[in-house]
Amino acid sequence: MEILRTAVDMARRSRALRSDGAVIGLVPTMGALHEGHLSLIRIASELADTVVVSVFVNPTQFGPSEDFDRYPRDLEGDAALSEAAGCDIVFAPGVEEIYPAHYATVVHVQRMSQKLCGAMRPGHFDGVTTVVAKLMNIVRPSIAVFGQKDGQQVAIIERMAADLDMGVEIIRAPTVREPDGLALSSRNGYLSKDERAEAPVLYRALEHARSLYESGERDALRVIEAAQGLIEAGSGAEVQYVAAVDARTLEGVAELSPGTMIALAARFGATRLIDNIVLT
Ligand code: AMP
Repeated sequence: MEILRTAVDMARRSRALRSDGAVIGLVPTMGALHEGHLSLIRIASELADTVVVSVFVNPTQFGPSEDFDRYPRDLEGDAALSEAAGCDIVFAPGVEEIYPAHYATVVHVQRMSQKLCGAMRPGHFDGVTTVVAKLMNIVRPSIAVFGQKDGQQVAIIERMAADLDMGVEIIRAPTVREPDGLALSSRNGYLSKDERAEAPVLYRALEHARSLYESGERDALRVIEAAQGLIEAGSGAEVQYVAAVDARTLEGVAELSPGTMIALAARFGATRLIDNIVLT
């Protein structure tokens, strides 16, 4: 497995692979890889001949009071885990490589970027779409794999890839969870012991929403209130939102149906966790 550090090297390598007829799959990450990321790499390696995993802690998607500086970084460990999961090339550029002096361009997906988490993290999704657009342009993959764990993010990236004719197929990979239901996240490590013990309430609330839906409830507001009530009764978490939206367009829905995403965000102390399910 190779580790490439510059955009020029990555683009050159990718061009050579493509001219040999290889299907390239890209898995963008911020590193600190866990089983969730590895599942994406395994999916990519089934669909593509060459798997590129990018490892880049993207400063433009962090707010001023967020955890950019203390975000966990371990390139050596990430490279070893990536390789074992089927990665061929780790692309790990430095910040100056991606945002050199005089960098000025932002990719903004209208409306979708302002909803849900976007309302609480101004500019976050512009940082995400800008860096993902750049990674797509450097690597030029045929497929790119993103986790349903970040349901708003993958919907926005699907929109961007279609709107900008990126010629890449976006694959949604299922959320990988701990045995107690907590979705794997690099930020789970910030939780105190007590917060970690409470955090599975998020998935229990989503499962409760699903079971109401499966027993015939279609009223989105009633289901949202039930899920929120369950979190507030079962933890000290501060619920930021529970919402029912179309999983592709992120438009709010009054009535639940297949393809509705129930998404939520809550703070456990200083740690903000998100999760979602898509109704079938
Ligand atoms: P991150 O490193 O947090 O930017 O995540 C990189 C990719 O991994 C994104 O597409 C995430 O949606 C995905 N991901 C993160 N956690 C999980 C998880 N628990 N299950 C599946 N995918 C995940």
